[in-house]
Amino acid sequence: MQYQSFLIKYAEIGTKGKNRYMFEDALIRQIRYALSSVDGEFDVTKESGRIYVKALGEYDYDDTIEALKRVFGIADICPMVQIDDKDYENLKKHVVEYMDQVYPDKNITFKVDARRGDKQYPVSSEQINRDMGEAILDAFPEMKVDVHHPDVLLRVEIRQKVNLFSLMIPGPGGMPIGTNGQAMLLLSGGIDSPVAGYMMAKRGLILSAVHFYSYPYTSERARDKVVDLTRLLSRYAGPIRLHLVPFTDIQMTIYEQCPSKETTVIMRRLMMKIAQRIAEKEGARALITGEALGQVASQTLESLCVTNDAVTMPVFRPLIGFDKDDIMDLSRKIGTYETSILPYEDCCTVFVPKHPVTKPVLEDLRASEAKVDFSEMIEHAISDSELMIIK
Ligand code: ATP
Ligand code: MG
Repeated sequence: MQYQSFLIKYAEIGTKGKNRYMFEDALIRQIRYALSSVDGEFDVTKESGRIYVKALGEYDYDDTIEALKRVFGIADICPMVQIDDKDYENLKKHVVEYMDQVYPDKNITFKVDARRGDKQYPVSSEQINRDMGEAILDAFPEMKVDVHHPDVLLRVEIRQKVNLFSLMIPGPGGMPIGTNGQAMLLLSGGIDSPVAGYMMAKRGLILSAVHFYSYPYTSERARDKVVDLTRLLSRYAGPIRLHLVPFTDIQMTIYEQCPSKETTVIMRRLMMKIAQRIAEKEGARALITGEALGQVASQTLESLCVTNDAVTMPVFRPLIGFDKDDIMDLSRKIGTYETSILPYEDCCTVFVPKHPVTKPVLEDLRASEAKVDFSEMIEHAISDSELMIIK
C-alpha cells in the first residue's frame, strides 16, 4: 500500500487547555523541521484538533516514518488513506480495497469503528460499522469479526474527507521542543550525558550544550566525538548551540594547587559555574547533567550537594535514579551508544585522582577552592570558548 497521508496523534499536549494551540503549533514546526531532511515534499496541517502530514508526490516512506519517530510530542503515527469521494457505495469499495492491500494475509479478525465528524453525513456510525463489516466479510470470507480483541481495528472517519486507517506506529511521546524553555546540557563524551539531554529535550526543552576539553591532554578526536554526539542528539532536539570550552589551565591549576582527593569535585564545581555563566548569556534557565546517584565518587549524595552549591540555577539530573544498564539500553535506543564508547580520553579521566573523596564536606571544599583565584581563568575559558551550531 502506498500511503500519501499520515494522521499524527499527540498525547499530553491534548490536555493543555487554552495553551493547546501553542503546543500544536510547536509540534507542527518540529514535524516540518524533521521532514526537511527527508526526500519529498510535505504539507503539515492542523484541522480541528488533528495534525495531518500529507506527502505531495513521491517521497521516501521509511525515512518519513523514521523522521516522525524522532519528533517529541507525537504519540502515534497513523498511515492513512484519504478519500475525497464520500459516496456511500464507493466507500465500501475503498474499504475492501484498503483491507486487501494492507492485509495480504486474510486470516485475521477485525472490527470497524466509524466516526462521523460530519454530522450531515446521511448514514449513522453504527450503520457504517455494519455495512463496512459486511462488505469486508463478503470480499474475504477468511476474515472474521471480533468486537472485543480484533487483530485489526479499522477506523473510518467521515470528516471533510474520509479517512481510513488501522496502523499505529508509536512515536516517542513527550512534548514538542520549544514548549518548555531552554536549558544547558553539560555534555561529556560519555554514555550518560547524551541520554540526559535526550530525556530533557523530550520534555520540550530547547537544548544548548557545553563541553570542556583539555587539549593536549585530550585529543582532537575526543572533541570530534562530542560534536558527533551533539549531531546525533540534534536529530531529536533540533539545532543545538554547542560551546566548546578550553579547560586545560583550570584543570592544571586544580591538579597542582588543590588537595589531590578533592580535585574531581572542585573540577565539577568549576564546570558548573562556567556552564551557568554561558547558560545565562544564552537565556537558558537550567543546567542538565548525566549524573546518577552513587555511580562514581563524584556522584554520591554528598558530592552532588557540593557540586550543586557552586550554582544557583536548577540542575536537572534526569538519570539520577537509573542503573547504568538502563542508561546503556536507552543510549542504544536513541543511537548514541556506539559513538559514546569510542575510546577517546575525557578530561575527567585524564586527571582522575587515585583516592577521591566520596563524602566531601562543603566547607572544606569551599575553603580549598577559595585558596586559588580562579576568576581570571574562568573569564578566559569563557571568552576563548568556541561556538558551533550543530544541525
Ligand atoms: P558521562 O557518561 O556523561 O560522561 P560519567 O558517568 O562519565 O558521565 P562524570 O565524568 O563524573 O560521569 O561526569 C558527570 C557529568 O558531568 C556528566 O554526565 C556530564 O553532564 C558532566 N561532564 C563531565 N565531563 C564533562 C565535560 N568534559 N564537559 C562537559 N560536561 C561534562
Ligand atoms: Mg564522563
